[in-house]
Amino acid sequence: MPVKTHKYTNGEITILWQPEMCIHSGICFRGLAQVFDPRRKPWIEMSNSETGKIIEQVRKCPSGALSIVETVKESSTGK
Ligand code: SF4
Repeated sequence: MPVKTHKYTNGEITILWQPEMCIHSGICFRGLAQVFDPRRKPWIEMSNSETGKIIEQVRKCPSGALSIVETVKESSTGK
């Protein structure tokens, strides 16, 4: 069965959120409320904080519902 995944990006990194894995611990929005706010749509707003802080917070997610993938930028030399 495919796992539902939502993606949020700021151009540097992409957060993946798998709602079925979320145990609603509240750790993400208590730790970084300006980015993670379940009352807002979209509930993740990455422009409200720095990439480093977002990565740190995502790592604290106890269920693995949140994860990060690096967004690969095109370099000027091509490959
Ligand atoms: S920290 Fe992870 S498990 Fe907790 S509410 Fe956020 S996404 Fe869900």
